[in-house]
Amino acid sequence: MFKFLKRLRGEKPETSLVAEQFVEEPAPVIHAEPELIVPAVTAPAPTEPAVEKAALAQAPEPVREVVEQPAKTITPEPLALAEVELPKRSLGSGIRSLFSSDVDLDDLEDILIRADFGVEASLEITEDLKREANKVGASSDPELRLLLKDLLTKRLTRPDSALNLSSGDLPYVILVVGVNGAGKTTTIGKLSRWLKDGDWNVVLGAADTFRAAAVDQLATWAQRAESEIVRPEREGQDPASVAYQTVELALAKQADIAIIDTAGRLQNKKDLMDELGKVRRAVEKQARISEVLLVIDATTGQNAMAQAKAFAEVANVTGIVMTKLDGSAKGGILYALQQELDLPVKLVGVGEGVNDFAFFSPEEFAKGLVAYK
Ligand code: GDP
Ligand code: MG
Repeated sequence: MFKFLKRLRGEKPETSLVAEQFVEEPAPVIHAEPELIVPAVTAPAPTEPAVEKAALAQAPEPVREVVEQPAKTITPEPLALAEVELPKRSLGSGIRSLFSSDVDLDDLEDILIRADFGVEASLEITEDLKREANKVGASSDPELRLLLKDLLTKRLTRPDSALNLSSGDLPYVILVVGVNGAGKTTTIGKLSRWLKDGDWNVVLGAADTFRAAAVDQLATWAQRAESEIVRPEREGQDPASVAYQTVELALAKQADIAIIDTAGRLQNKKDLMDELGKVRRAVEKQARISEVLLVIDATTGQNAMAQAKAFAEVANVTGIVMTKLDGSAKGGILYALQQELDLPVKLVGVGEGVNDFAFFSPEEFAKGLVAYK
């Protein structure tokens, strides 16, 4: 299981070891930039919140004021971190098998192509399997399934498939991007509940400000996940300002993580690039961006590839979330995307329920695809 670093809360002797390590040898990422530890956001609030608010409203560039705080605003106590896992979630029976009957090496290439692995990969995988089967003398259905499972697992395994939540550079900020309907908001909801179950403090940002319903949907998830949410003050508010406020609240609340939902409009690359660029810059005034997760609906098949490429080109995507694998007989798209975009799949969605998702595990996924028991 992946290990992550979050804020240490309460007395937990077994985790304080990690905290001490960090106290003795502070990772440069924590202290490199004063604005990452910005108590300045909280500091003025208790005295004159109304005045502070009014001042911010008048200032043309309120952001600057915060960033330009001198370095002496650093918290005296170093950030104490705890090394944690997240509660187990599994793909369950969410992955459909490629085979409705026994594995037949002569049909395999066609089956893989129909499951959206892509023509070239389908040929390569089939040839690899034939070679391997020959080498070890495998011919029965269970033997071929085992070989194929291992082969797919190997081809899908990457060193960077864990969510980037281990730098100790809190709050981690995750931007979630992708076309409308892909499953962004649902994924954020599931992820935040999951983190909450692992005792993480989560702040959500509803930067998909163009539809009131989208904001309400995230708010419902926030409630389920017992997480804070920053909503736009009015419909159509600049997404970048919501993103800024989200990070601001995460800092003020000493949250471990801020997850920002974005609008999925893909009218043209330039608009998308401008909008996401603005959101990025707003976040980066106060914190680093840990992940830009591109959410892709597995049921859109080959069309998903074109969308994914467009987003990957403009959004500095660091990982893929593949949703709706439960409804797709074309799980090969996951393989094709990971190879073609050279980006890791980090999370997968296998249903609409709060627990229907997991870290991407190549082996679990490959087992599902070949129905290997
Ligand atoms: P967004 O527009 O990208 O934010 O997409 P939403 O999160 O609103 O999801 C669109 C629809 O897809 C909703 O009806 C979700 O319940 C559904 N959905 C999201 N993820 C999954 C999944 O993994 N499996 C299934 N079956 N449905 C999903
Ligand atoms: Mg949404």
